[in-house]
Amino acid sequence: MISPDEARSFVLSGLAPLAPVDVSLAESIGLVAAGTIEASEPAPSFTNSAMDGFAVRADDVTASETRLRIVDSVFAGESSDVVVGHGDATRIMTGAPLPPGADSVCAREDATVETERGYVVIHRTMAVGDSVRHVGDDMTVGQVLVAPGDVISPALLGALAAQGVASLRVHPAPRVGVLSTGNELVDAAGPLGPGQIRDSNRPTLLAALARSGFSPVDLGTVRDSKEDLRAAFERARRECDAVISTGGVSAGDADFVKVVLAELFGKRARSMQVAIRPGKPFTFALDEESATPFFGLAGNPVSTLVGFELFVRPALRRLAGQRDIDRPRLSMVLDCDVERAPDGKLHLVHGLCRVHDDGRLHVESLARRGSHLLFAIAHSNCLVFAPDGPRLAAGEVVSALLLDENHVNVV
Ligand code: AMP
Ligand code: MG
Repeated sequence: MISPDEARSFVLSGLAPLAPVDVSLAESIGLVAAGTIEASEPAPSFTNSAMDGFAVRADDVTASETRLRIVDSVFAGESSDVVVGHGDATRIMTGAPLPPGADSVCAREDATVETERGYVVIHRTMAVGDSVRHVGDDMTVGQVLVAPGDVISPALLGALAAQGVASLRVHPAPRVGVLSTGNELVDAAGPLGPGQIRDSNRPTLLAALARSGFSPVDLGTVRDSKEDLRAAFERARRECDAVISTGGVSAGDADFVKVVLAELFGKRARSMQVAIRPGKPFTFALDEESATPFFGLAGNPVSTLVGFELFVRPALRRLAGQRDIDRPRLSMVLDCDVERAPDGKLHLVHGLCRVHDDGRLHVESLARRGSHLLFAIAHSNCLVFAPDGPRLAAGEVVSALLLDENHVNVV
């Protein structure tokens, strides 16, 4: 057996970010920038009002009440060239350019309008710059907005839109092929024959890939035949940036995935027994010609998901150019015991964690364990690391991967 760290290093050692491509701004969300973008315009590009109110000259408004003559009004998208002289005010809306002569804006709430006579009374004193947004407050010309390795967030995408950027260089989301292997597998509906099961790994992985921002490619099911597997992997390496198969990597007489991967990729294929439970058998291969990694995960559904989290997802994030390839691994307080005995393996246990009043994440409950018990983990949101040794008692602090950050609040 090898340690999970060694297996992970073996996987990651040959992987690099995918070659950059140009995508439209909208398509870039969540992707990793491969180039530098500098601001070509200041933002704001003109001095404008931060409030609906009155543009005034601050040195006119030094008493607790000041009466000013309204000389014009200016809406967002317009401009006024009427000079705000001493004793004058111009009605102004948020985002409208500051008219000449004005140096500050009084909010509408701090003023009373004398409608018939065209005057406004300001009920406060003003300082130069009050409620004024200045040129370049947010972005200055030449400022680096995007550097290689930056993840495009909604706000960053918006800032680029504000600059008129229409497309950019990014590392693409890896196209990841998923195929299930096993003679027992049938697709979705229809009655099951003797010994048959429906394929759940493929839908699970396709969904997990989509959730993590990768592009899933459904490669269907393949029978436990060397020829069929070889043909499927050959096709997959042409169509995908990475390939995940499930089943066929253990010690069974029909476990041909590891055999075929070894035949195809020679010394860059490795069948591992990783010191984890579940998910011990794991085959990894790298097609050096196309730089396509192949992940042969064990067929049991929970083993498949554990292998995905530990080895596949970080590797795919590396292909995507992400600097931070791991999910948050956090300290959590155990609210229940983790039953285990020493066996030389790291145990990975699905659980439900939530933030408690002490401000800490608590593992409130653990899923029933069994590598075939898929529904049992269906409502979990974390994966607890129970290192080799005796049982862990409630109250202990453990390390766990946060699998879903959306469900940690107590509702
Ligand atoms: P294997 O790794 O091929 O020995 O399969 C281990 C167990 O996982 C067996 O009980 C298989 O029937 C089951 N299994 C394999 N592939 C799938 C799949 N795609 N969906 C659901 N169960 C599977
Ligand atoms: Mg099988």
